[in-house]
Amino acid sequence: MTEHMEPIQGGLDRVLGFTIPDRNVRGRFVRLGPVLDEILAAHEYPPVLKQLLAEALVLCALMGGLLKREGSQLTIQAQAQGGVVELLVCDYREGELRGYLKHDPERFDELGAATDLQSLFGAGHLAITFDLPETGERYQGVVPLEGESLSAAMEEYFARSEQVPTRIRAAVQAGPNGSVAGGLLVQHLADGEEGRERLHVRMDHPEWEHVSILAGSLRAEELVDPELTPEEILWRLFHEEREVRISETMPLTRGCRCSVVHFEEVLARFPKEDRRDMQDENGIILVDCAFCSREFPIQD
Ligand SMILES: [Zn+2]
Repeated sequence: MTEHMEPIQGGLDRVLGFTIPDRNVRGRFVRLGPVLDEILAAHEYPPVLKQLLAEALVLCALMGGLLKREGSQLTIQAQAQGGVVELLVCDYREGELRGYLKHDPERFDELGAATDLQSLFGAGHLAITFDLPETGERYQGVVPLEGESLSAAMEEYFARSEQVPTRIRAAVQAGPNGSVAGGLLVQHLADGEEGRERLHVRMDHPEWEHVSILAGSLRAEELVDPELTPEEILWRLFHEEREVRISETMPLTRGCRCSVVHFEEVLARFPKEDRRDMQDENGIILVDCAFCSREFPIQD
């Protein structure tokens, strides 16, 4: 791997894909900047919950960055009861990210300094859904919302549902000039296979253990330091490997599918009687998009 890779826009708001061929490892690195601020600006969440949503968006970009086919979508949805956060949703489609959460302000006041998943969500689960329009396939994995962080729950998802040894690091930092969030995902594809059914999984494969330890040595400050480009981070971590191949880089944007046309189509699926109940005196139905907190007046 060369030491002189040119940074692209300081590495903000893009996903970088890479492989370490000798170790059958693939990875993604993401760093969010302005896109994150744009998504968070649509909501008025307390800092702790902004942090939570930011971490979810990093995970969404990391995992979305693994999708290969056009139009594929990845959705992360956390649903819970008895905690501060009742719902968290974010999705990724072709570089477009969006997300929101719903929380109970009264319970939030009792939260204190705890940020583990149990305190934030109570009891709940995390569902990861892949939509692959090309084949019409949709598959979903579900894991309990347990552990220190969403990243830890996501590692569980990979271990249990996909049976792919995976290491994830994520960090978020809010600053006076905006937020920065960073994430690294590395995973071991035994024998270089991709998407094949696995007969057995070794979580302690020697080639994987080595990479997992290196990835784990990445510090939170490095993840969110915009002065350190993703390429520099990969070099720091893996410069002793014979080869680290940068496979692709994908720009990220804040994107939402809400529009008057979209909501007209959604409303058209309701029976006429129901639509009449939703109308105001001028025959207008107000629909709001939870992702961007915008209201759309739809003339029925
Ligand atoms: Zn929207």
